[in-house]
Amino acid sequence: MRSFRQFLYELIRQTSIPFTSEGKSQLQIMGMLETRALDFDRVIILSVNEGILPQSRKLNSLIPFDIAAELHLPTYREQEAVMAYHFYRLLQRASEVVLLHTTSTDAYGNSKGEQSRFIRQIEHELVPRSKGLIRISHPTVRFGRAGANTVADLADLRVPKSETIRNQLIHTLTTRGLYPSYLNQFVSCSMRFYFSRIVNISEEEDIEEKMGAAEFGSWLHMVLERLDKEYRLLERPIDELIIKNLLEEEFTKSMKGRVIESGMNLLLYELAQKLMLDFQREQNKLAGLTVIGTEQTLETYLNVPLNGGQEIKVRIAGKVDRIEKFGDQIRIVDYKTGSVKLPEKTPADLTEKLLKDGSEEKMRQLWLYRYLALKNISEHGGLPRDKGKRDIFPAKGLPVEAGFYSFRDINGGFKTNPVRFDTNDDPEQYIKDSEELLRQLIRQLLDVAEPFKKTDKLETCQFCDFKGICGR
Ligand code: SF4
Repeated sequence: MRSFRQFLYELIRQTSIPFTSEGKSQLQIMGMLETRALDFDRVIILSVNEGILPQSRKLNSLIPFDIAAELHLPTYREQEAVMAYHFYRLLQRASEVVLLHTTSTDAYGNSKGEQSRFIRQIEHELVPRSKGLIRISHPTVRFGRAGANTVADLADLRVPKSETIRNQLIHTLTTRGLYPSYLNQFVSCSMRFYFSRIVNISEEEDIEEKMGAAEFGSWLHMVLERLDKEYRLLERPIDELIIKNLLEEEFTKSMKGRVIESGMNLLLYELAQKLMLDFQREQNKLAGLTVIGTEQTLETYLNVPLNGGQEIKVRIAGKVDRIEKFGDQIRIVDYKTGSVKLPEKTPADLTEKLLKDGSEEKMRQLWLYRYLALKNISEHGGLPRDKGKRDIFPAKGLPVEAGFYSFRDINGGFKTNPVRFDTNDDPEQYIKDSEELLRQLIRQLLDVAEPFKKTDKLETCQFCDFKGICGR
């Protein structure tokens, strides 16, 4: 991409667009060379910046400058002289001249934001000699957004939750549903939630030569899903070659145009191979492990009474990476390629953390997964198997855990979420307590008295795509 960009900008730089003049018009737009022998009463010249007028000193020739000068071949000096001639000749009979220059570097690197030497010559040579006939002024124009554009205004940026927004949210909650990612986004920064879920600004998709952490993660997820679907669920054996082939196939599918022969991509490719082989080796050691389903969506409906007697039926859902049975324990599994921190035991301020702490995303996600699994077992007697929604794997009475396999610590095995609401850990009580918290969160989400506002935790903003919009 970098090389492509260089070629493209070089091409743009060398491209000139001829203007077609409309003879009768009072306004003529033209290039510098077309102005020769024409006089105008009022002249506006754009980009009077060093590097553009005159152009930067570039030698587009294989003949070195000294040889060209010695042999009286044209060099940039002649080019500059031609430009200077056209420029001053154009000003000769004009009564009003506007010379515009920018103070910022342009995208192509032609101008460094410095005004042209021609402007300086006018100021220092022409104006003093004109005996007052030439008057000069230097107005500065700043572009910015009208309204809330001061630092103080941006710091306090808030968006009120109008009735329209509230209705839109209710519609989403009752149709598409509330997913852990939706909830996490709202808890970590309601302003980010507003940009992404209400205004629907999509996050920046940066195509780089090098694969990023997110792409690396989704590539491994795809391979793991296929390994489960095409091998483990069908009880077919998995060997090294299968893993390597799947990695290659998924890489070709999802990493369009990226090369793996060298550089960082090669290192990441080798790392992926090692991680996947290690992971399968660890999995094979777990005698009695059965995969029940992969990439299953668990869902349930929750009645939420709102203020004013209104009651809505919210769909709560979550797409889990894998449902497995180990011994007699049901595990709801999430794969993690990045680093994750989970507390060792249930935090003392659990409710506070689940309702308000943006940094506890993983804990909140796994809490919801376990709730969804227990609710599904309580309602349907089991969990959906891969063979189709109607097929239920019976799990009544079996212990359920939600947790993750970390690819940063493969030997560490399955790590469980410590969230518990009481010491007995009765599933019915867990469901009841979870639903109470969910109702609180949904009411908070729909509370018109609480505007969308920026998070106080600056570390949340570090990788946020909306930094530029909200002024962080
Ligand atoms: S930059 Fe920070 S405050 Fe702004 S939307 Fe993103 S997370 Fe929220």
